[in-house]
Amino acid sequence: MSDVRNVIIIGSGPAGYTAALYTARASLKPLVFEGAVTAGGALMNTTEVENFPGFRDGIMGPELMDNMRGQAERFGAELVPDDIVEVDLTGDIKTVTDSEGVVHRAHAVIVTTGSQHRKLGLPREDALSGRGVSWCATCDGFFFKEQDIAVVGGGDTALEEATFLSRFAKSVTVIHRRGELRASKAMQERAFADPKISFAWDSAVEAIHGDPKLTGVTLRDTTTGELRELPITGLFIAIGHDPRTELFKGQLELDAEGYLKVEAPTTRTNIAGVFGAGDVVDHTYRQAITAAGTGCAAALDAERYLAHLA
Ligand code: FAD
Repeated sequence: MSDVRNVIIIGSGPAGYTAALYTARASLKPLVFEGAVTAGGALMNTTEVENFPGFRDGIMGPELMDNMRGQAERFGAELVPDDIVEVDLTGDIKTVTDSEGVVHRAHAVIVTTGSQHRKLGLPREDALSGRGVSWCATCDGFFFKEQDIAVVGGGDTALEEATFLSRFAKSVTVIHRRGELRASKAMQERAFADPKISFAWDSAVEAIHGDPKLTGVTLRDTTTGELRELPITGLFIAIGHDPRTELFKGQLELDAEGYLKVEAPTTRTNIAGVFGAGDVVDHTYRQAITAAGTGCAAALDAERYLAHLA
């Protein structure tokens, strides 16, 4: 069994690396589990990031994450590209178990495991991510100026994305499996009033086309089974997100959608010494800068908690 660390951070996106940077600079020698396959977080799967402040000409997602990683490491953060597969957060000393069964102990734990956007599960979906297929209108909308694009989904997020995207795009088709929307009345009215937005009702995406960039999708009528082609250069998938909180069920308080609950504006969870930051907490903003911001807050909260223990 390992010595008791000050702080263990689970997750390595902008929230985890920022928490690592701050706790490392506070001489807390954080141990960071970055994840085995997805170290670096969601931005490892994207191309250009144009809205992270400080990079006037934009920066590639993987390069931004590599910089964050290096900055945390420079101040002494210990980074491990492995998954945590089990946790016991209930005692004063928290334990986390890595994929090889090694148990690590700490006085404080910061959870920054992020969230996973739901996928359509179609071939070419991953290959065309960042090449026309996107899960984030705020991030990528700007790249689709004067283009014909589509949004998949029928909830508030889908309509919000469609309305946002219509500022840039030539046309936005909302593709929805049913004949009516789940979104709020207000969102629906806004979308119906927008001359650039049209609806493909009772339609599901059957196939995604394009190499190396998206050129269109095949739609299947969910009532008749009929197929038709929709030529588009942008496809925004807005069918929901799943926070990565499976590991914490039964210990940390989660909301109805499975997101980690914190005592906002702090990052404190229901267990003393356990803090949450980034997209695993955040339904609303889901940006790299907001994740980094709450990662910083979690580090400062953990630092104060540890100071009171001393
Ligand atoms: P994540 O970045 O999701 O990182 C979570 C990390 O936790 C992952 O690395 C994962 O490996 C790790 N993890 C999970 N479970 C475990 C475990 N059990 N053990 C160890 N590690 C674990 N935002 C912008 O601001 N600008 C953009 O241009 C932009 N573009 C985007 C493009 C795409 C394709 C996507 C998907 C998102 C984009 N975003 C963008 C959103 C942004 O990436 C997220 O808001 C941000 O990454 C959230 O950071 P996070 O640290 O909370 O989580």
